[in-house]
Amino acid sequence: MKNSVLQPEQHISSNFYESDIILQHYVQTRLSARSLAYISDKLINIGASAAGQLNELSLTADKFGPVLHKRNFYGENIDEIRFHPAYKQMIEIAVTSEMFRIKWEPGLRARFAGERHRLGFALGFLFAMSESGLYCPLCMTDGVAVLIDRYCANADKERLLPRIYTHDAKELFTGAMFLTEKAGGSDVGAALVTATHKEGSRWLLNGEKWFCSNANADIIFALARTKPEIEGTRGLGIFLLEPRLRNGAKNNMELVRLKDKLGTRSMASGEYLLHDAEATLVGGETEGFKIMTDMINLSRLYNSVAALAGMRRGIIEAYQFLSFRNSFGKLALEHALIRTKLLELGSLYLGNFYSTWRTIEAMDAVENQDALAEEAQLLRLLTPMVKKATAEAAVYGVREAMELMGGLGYIEDGVMPKIMRDVMVLPIWEGAGNIMILDMLRAMMKTQALKTMLSEIEILYNAWSDEDIENAKLWQSATIELRALEGLLSSLVQQPQEIMEATAKPAFERLTQFYQLYCLLRYYDEDSATWMSPAIGFYLRRLQPIMAINLQTAPSLETIKNLIAWAF
Ligand SMILES: Cc1cc2nc3c(=O)[nH]c(=O)nc-3n(C[C@H](O)[C@H](O)[C@H](O)COP(=O)(O)OP(=O)(O)OC[C@H]3O[C@@H](n4cnc5c(N)ncnc54)[C@H](O)[C@@H]3O)c2cc1C
Repeated sequence: MKNSVLQPEQHISSNFYESDIILQHYVQTRLSARSLAYISDKLINIGASAAGQLNELSLTADKFGPVLHKRNFYGENIDEIRFHPAYKQMIEIAVTSEMFRIKWEPGLRARFAGERHRLGFALGFLFAMSESGLYCPLCMTDGVAVLIDRYCANADKERLLPRIYTHDAKELFTGAMFLTEKAGGSDVGAALVTATHKEGSRWLLNGEKWFCSNANADIIFALARTKPEIEGTRGLGIFLLEPRLRNGAKNNMELVRLKDKLGTRSMASGEYLLHDAEATLVGGETEGFKIMTDMINLSRLYNSVAALAGMRRGIIEAYQFLSFRNSFGKLALEHALIRTKLLELGSLYLGNFYSTWRTIEAMDAVENQDALAEEAQLLRLLTPMVKKATAEAAVYGVREAMELMGGLGYIEDGVMPKIMRDVMVLPIWEGAGNIMILDMLRAMMKTQALKTMLSEIEILYNAWSDEDIENAKLWQSATIELRALEGLLSSLVQQPQEIMEATAKPAFERLTQFYQLYCLLRYYDEDSATWMSPAIGFYLRRLQPIMAINLQTAPSLETIKNLIAWAF
């Protein structure tokens, strides 16, 4: 046995739900008895699949990605995307899990009102622990359901929603969103695709959409310019675009090519040219962006859940490996530096986990209309905050977990390289990090969310400082730090835009850490103390004064040029 990588008894999880005490504790404490009774078996089933069959399918679908067949034997344009059978099997697993049905089937929707996002995301989280490529089309399928439900004509609702909550995978309609154009992804208002009125609610779309994930979608929501004379997002309408027209003919959409991507390789992302493509206007002619934000905000939460799933998977893979790997005469896990790293990764995971579920709860409450106005404002601030934090934590966490596995972490026989590639997109799509900072700034200036958040944090910190006598001083100094941050943030509104933006990034990142610690305290109880206490200690130490964040100005272009030292 001496010349072997691992000792023979290495244990691999056979069920990602049953081996996840944190998720189990969360659903047991934050779901109603009725929901828990309905979902428990489903979580066990998807947990088993994610650790077994789905995992195998995911590795296969990643290796044998979709292929575009532009033309048929007779030279006719067919633009058909062919997938490996593994991808279709994964769709079946998703449908069988009921992650959509539980949210959209009318009876279940009414029964689980106020908890439906928690239910869908608990199932989705386990699914994404194995397969985050397909999780993107699943996210957009849920997203188009939101827009159909809120904004489409009754006839379209009756026609399309049952295809989303179907329990037959062959019946499933999946969704997509076409926003990004060459002229702009972050800058959606730069969109050039035009919409010309045809008759009634029918319009014709022309132009190019540059990043179209789930390129084989059945239901697409596309932004297009209804008012060429109005610049920016205000001149945009939103359209229901279907690749098949009602008479069965192919719509005038040309799939130019599929993107050759670093990760999420199992699903197809493409580039589309629209030549008089027929589409239905949804909402007012200039309400497109406003309506699309409903789908974008839900997608941002999906992004966070996918990030948590990737990070958790990376950490448990490394943890299992290290539990059976020997180096320098002892178990790798017994080395102080390895344990220190795992403390950091585990704590960051928990801070991100609880802040994400806090946000999902806010979305549930707001949709169920049982929330105070403050909750809606908080949701507005939390959505970009957790999107940015979780995505960055996943990239960092998976990379570190990969390193902890040494050379094997880098080898494609295992799952780590796929997870690493898949999480890399999370900080980019659904709004890159800077865009999240700008969104947080808007939320801070337009709502009372920051005030609410800061006072909630302070109340809980003070309570802990009274209880946790041993660390009372640390709690007090963390509270002083928090007040300093509050002062800095409130002074931002008077600053010129350049200073405001440059200062907002480190300030919001620090605020995120304060909020993550708050969430650990908020969800702390006797049963969770075993994993919460080390994480609380970690965050508490991290939030001690290290370096004051002061008002700062953005460096000049000259400074940047000097720093980069690049000769054209
Ligand atoms: C795999 C993949 C799949 C995708 N799928 C879809 C899809 O299905 N539908 C869709 O519509 N889009 C999709 N996208 C596009 C994606 O949403 C965009 O790439 C993203 O929004 C960034 O836009 P961009 O690429 O135009 O970059 P840019 O907007 O040019 O941004 C480049 C950098 O500049 C920064 N930046 C931009 N503006 C500012 C500012 N004002 N202040 C500070 N920094 C700024 C950004 O943060 C970013 O880091 C996909 C992208 C990828 C990689």
